[in-house]
Amino acid sequence: MTKFVVKNNVESTVADDPLTQSSTTLHVPTGEGSNFPSTFPFMLTIWNSNIYPDPGNDPGMEIVKCTNRSNDTLTIVRAQENTSNMEHLQGERVAMLITAGVIDVLISEVVDDTSPQLGGDLDPNGHGFAIGSDADGDMYYRASGALTRLAKGSASQVLTMNGSGTAPEWTDVSGSDLPVVDTTSIVSGSSDSTKQMRFEVDGLTTNTTRVMTVPDKDITLADNADVITHTSAANPHSGSAASGANSDITSLSGLTTPLSVAQGGTGVTDDSYDADKVDGCDAGLGNGNVLKIDNYMIATGAIISGLGTQIGAIDPGIDGYQLTTHGSSSIVTWAPASDLIFSDTHCPKCNKKFKIGDILILYVVGYNEVGDILTIPMHKECAETPKKIVMIKRKVFENRYILDELTGKTKIQRVQKTQKKTITKYKLKDGYEFDHKTGKAIKINKDGSKDKTQYDLSIALETFEDTIKEPIYKDVEFIL
Ligand SMILES: [Zn+2]
Repeated sequence: MTKFVVKNNVESTVADDPLTQSSTTLHVPTGEGSNFPSTFPFMLTIWNSNIYPDPGNDPGMEIVKCTNRSNDTLTIVRAQENTSNMEHLQGERVAMLITAGVIDVLISEVVDDTSPQLGGDLDPNGHGFAIGSDADGDMYYRASGALTRLAKGSASQVLTMNGSGTAPEWTDVSGSDLPVVDTTSIVSGSSDSTKQMRFEVDGLTTNTTRVMTVPDKDITLADNADVITHTSAANPHSGSAASGANSDITSLSGLTTPLSVAQGGTGVTDDSYDADKVDGCDAGLGNGNVLKIDNYMIATGAIISGLGTQIGAIDPGIDGYQLTTHGSSSIVTWAPASDLIFSDTHCPKCNKKFKIGDILILYVVGYNEVGDILTIPMHKECAETPKKIVMIKRKVFENRYILDELTGKTKIQRVQKTQKKTITKYKLKDGYEFDHKTGKAIKINKDGSKDKTQYDLSIALETFEDTIKEPIYKDVEFIL
């Protein structure tokens, strides 16, 4: 609707005589045209004010619209605002009055103005805005320079920006805007918002959703380096000992740090530990102490004898046998008690070797310090031959002082004189055991079990140097 021009206190009179009903040109007295605006349109009321001071009372009143003016000549449109085009006499009043049409236009202009502007701040004075449906909870946001209503969302919805990032919108939390990209931090610290956390899922297989199920308790996730992983379906740690005494461990085969002697181990990682040696032991046992040897090492009835630098067991003798020494090593051995044992092998007079069937006599050559009779065997027939001087190898004895622990004094003991001699001997290599039933060797596995294979002794034996005490002999002159 066209906006009307308004101006206060504008009036004149009809100069036409008369202004006919059809005339669209209104003349006012000379010079009075300038009373009227020079912009258009504006509304004019024409009535006979001489008779009707109030135009509302004049039945001939007419409202016209002036659309142009040239000096005192106005171009008008007749019969406006439900009035009729009437003939007006010269001298009737022409005035710019506020008409219903003007007000309607003003109102309509407010409604229809597509870009109304305020001269100052808008003060709703406690009232609200009503833009479309003004339901409680609606929000307003700026859109293209104007306020636009955003209808309220549903319960639990969140306000977010639309896909193009141009306007806010309500969305379901579990809606299409989830999931978020894994470059987006999900949570931040309660006191330090720079502390954030996000989930990384780029390592997943395409079209795969991995589910992380949270246990029904508070947990703290551990770093990979702190986690013990196992691939077996069964839990290898189930029932295992955590600490303290337990009966779960039956064998230790993977130790790289040896158990110390104090812990019951050997303290060494190689085979240098010789279980046959008694570490930390002095040359002898203390008074009242007992040297115990397990049954498997020494049979019942066996005796211990010195064997070079070692001691060894002499197997039990046969019933009726007696202990004696034999050979140059003076190793104790068993001999029949009923037999006469001597080390001489040749007759000292004829130098022939004794043989079965020989008849021998014992030629007494002296007594020893304990009263034993010292004899030399020879053929009976040789004994009856004339005496002659013979040289016989005899053991050399010497006196040695020893401490008598019962009296605390020294006493002299006559002992056989010996000399040290290094000899080569054979022994089983570590890890082998002699099989007395087969005469061969059995290999002992690391776990202590025995290999069933029988090994030739040439494989299982090794030599070693040993020092023995060899009896010293000297040629002694006898007259036999
Ligand atoms: Zn003889």
